[in-house]
Amino acid sequence: MKNTRKIANSGVKSSLAVLLVLAVAGTAWASGHDLVIYHTNDVHGYALEERDEGGRLTRLGYDRLKAVVDSDETGRKLLIDAGDVLHGQAFATARRGDFMAQVLSLTAYDALAAGNHDFDYGDGRLLHLVDKYRLNFLAANVTGKTLGGDKKYILPPYLIRSWGDLKVGIFGLSTPETMTSTDPRNVAELTFGDPVAAAREMVALLRAEGAEMVIAAMHMGSGPYCQPMSQTVAAEAPGIDLIVDGHSHSKLAERVKSVDGRETLVVSAGSYLENLGRVYADRKPEGGFAFSAEVLPASSFEGVPADPALSRAMGVLREELEVELNQVVMKTPFALDGARDNLRSRSTNLGRIICASLVEATGADAAFLNAGSIRDSIPAGEVTKGQILSVLPYGNYIYVLEITGRDLLAALNHGLGQPESGAFPQFWGLTMEAGKTTLTGSDGTKKEALAAKSVKIGGKPLDLNAKYRLATNDFLSAGGDGYEMFTKCEYREFATLEEVFRKFVTESEPAALKKISDAEVIRLVK
Ligand SMILES: [Zn+2]
Repeated sequence: MKNTRKIANSGVKSSLAVLLVLAVAGTAWASGHDLVIYHTNDVHGYALEERDEGGRLTRLGYDRLKAVVDSDETGRKLLIDAGDVLHGQAFATARRGDFMAQVLSLTAYDALAAGNHDFDYGDGRLLHLVDKYRLNFLAANVTGKTLGGDKKYILPPYLIRSWGDLKVGIFGLSTPETMTSTDPRNVAELTFGDPVAAAREMVALLRAEGAEMVIAAMHMGSGPYCQPMSQTVAAEAPGIDLIVDGHSHSKLAERVKSVDGRETLVVSAGSYLENLGRVYADRKPEGGFAFSAEVLPASSFEGVPADPALSRAMGVLREELEVELNQVVMKTPFALDGARDNLRSRSTNLGRIICASLVEATGADAAFLNAGSIRDSIPAGEVTKGQILSVLPYGNYIYVLEITGRDLLAALNHGLGQPESGAFPQFWGLTMEAGKTTLTGSDGTKKEALAAKSVKIGGKPLDLNAKYRLATNDFLSAGGDGYEMFTKCEYREFATLEEVFRKFVTESEPAALKKISDAEVIRLVK
């Protein structure tokens, strides 16, 4: 997702109080409610526990999450994930989702929605992992063009869980944005149907099956840019009791009235396992359920020791990951310059090669990144997978923007005008003549900066009124580092920078890399 839009969206907007419970007993306990639903979303491969400098738990880790759920002895409980779990961090991407799928299986999730990024290794890979680890990914609006059968669902659309007299139906929905927010080749064989229509059909079907409660696990999002928003599905498909949502990385517990006056609770638990969502459901005497929802930060579970068996299993996977990251994947005859000061004052060969990999992978006219997104150099000689990862460690995704020449020029000058800052641009597909200007800071200090005098794109002069396709990262496309001009652009989402860069440097001829390394893209003029 887009970072700042995500931030703009992450405030807890709720008609319910979202309680921040500070301590949970380390021993088993039962809540006394009719059903407890635990939920996560947008984990993006952050499987492992993390702490801040003060030792405070900032990410839960699946081993602790499992212990929290297991220690709740309420007989009726569900653990649901709302998608974008199999892809992102190295723990996820190193084995194309396999480690994550194993951990999800061991954590014993009851149901999962398939997020756009769960298709990032292709639909075939997702189905393989689902089958191999018996994961309950559900998708009631994703069908295969070439599959047999009536509905041609690629994943089961729903499941039903029963405990005594309580029958709960759960169905899954994936955002139609998936068609433009993973590499289109990953989903070429799939159709993402209208979520509202699929939801209406599922509600009718599950009620007819006798479900007393209907839950939707969905990856739809609640930001204004989400098409459609989870709230729209809630409003237009009456009869869903609870929506567990993902995609916009929101912390959310919001009641939505549907067109027939019924109410749906929409919940979402932020991202990256920084929180765990918990919903208590109690039967109302007049029928239906009363819900209370909380989004609990990881630190509130400090007192619950991690599940030892899952900790051991994850430790083994982490060691395997280490071995994987120590693998030599290429040899470079020249050093790739990712020194902080150089990246923030001039075009470096590493900046050019990363940007060239984005152009190659997306077919964009040019690529543009902020210096701050590149974090390490690579010395000449053998290069490991881990070294490549340390250059681009954040798991950022590539966005291709439709941008006017005028906005592109404004972006270049916005970056060039900020020497020594992470906003300084690295690019490929563009060349320019630039002059030096002197900037005076608010405190009177003077700084030398560059300003573009003439810019070429693909070898031709930049046309201010023409539209170009510019590859960048999710951070800048959301207006990060003050690049406001990017936020109004239409965009399409691709793989992570790290995956694309690694493929490019390991598969390109050394002579081709040398040519990019030696290229001059900024020529200083008076
Ligand atoms: Zn998503």
